[in-house]
Amino acid sequence: MILLISGPSGAGKSTVYQELMRREPRLRFSVSTTTRPPRAGETEGVDYHFVDEPAFDRLVAADAFLEWAHVHDRRYGTRRDHVRQLEAAGHIPLLDIDVQGGQQVLAQLGGDVVSVFVWPPSWQALEERLRGRGTDTDEVIATRLQNARWEVGFADRYTYWVINDDVAAAVARLQAILLAEACRRERLPGPPVRAAE
Ligand code: ADP
Ligand code: 5GP
Repeated sequence: MILLISGPSGAGKSTVYQELMRREPRLRFSVSTTTRPPRAGETEGVDYHFVDEPAFDRLVAADAFLEWAHVHDRRYGTRRDHVRQLEAAGHIPLLDIDVQGGQQVLAQLGGDVVSVFVWPPSWQALEERLRGRGTDTDEVIATRLQNARWEVGFADRYTYWVINDDVAAAVARLQAILLAEACRRERLPGPPVRAAE
């Protein structure tokens, strides 16, 4: 099982899944590779693997990415080997990736993917959250708001929708999704007892 989370920047995805990961120890964040520079407080290997454009080109040429995309004028990608390592260690990889990458992951891994689109409750709330986060310039915020209107057009391709009106409620919804998915017949090893012949 892979947990795929997409939604506009500022919707509150990382706030919600950081709390979710505290409650669900099997989840492990899949650290993406990006050409964007680190923000204050971000750590190499924890938030992202930060690389320059030629290094990203080499990874693309080596087919190292399960998916990659241009997002907000930068490139971001998920390495296949990183996801495989998480799965081999018995973890559920959590992918926070944009809608273009989400489509690539769904096309390749299909039924193994639990897809969730996180919505802000309104455009106004989204703008307030982007400004309140204090990590981006006005220009970057304007690009992200514009991109958000395009990204929500992909929401129909996701199985689950979580509206992040309240962090605790959104975390509870995601926990419910994970619990229900873990009970799906096809994810279980088989019946614990046999039916009568
Ligand atoms: P994303 O990962 O989707 O880009 P963040 O998790 O960084 O978004 O959240 C953007 C901002 O919105 C942060 O400052 C965060 O504290 C705030 N935030 C997140 N969820 C909520 C919520 N339900 N209500 C109010 N503010 C929120
Ligand atoms: P940020 O720059 O705010 O960290 O992320 C910007 C956007 O890039 C977010 O929508 C996030 O989901 C997306 N993103 C992060 N990592 C990846 C990745 O590996 N692949 C793709 N396609 N998108 C990513």
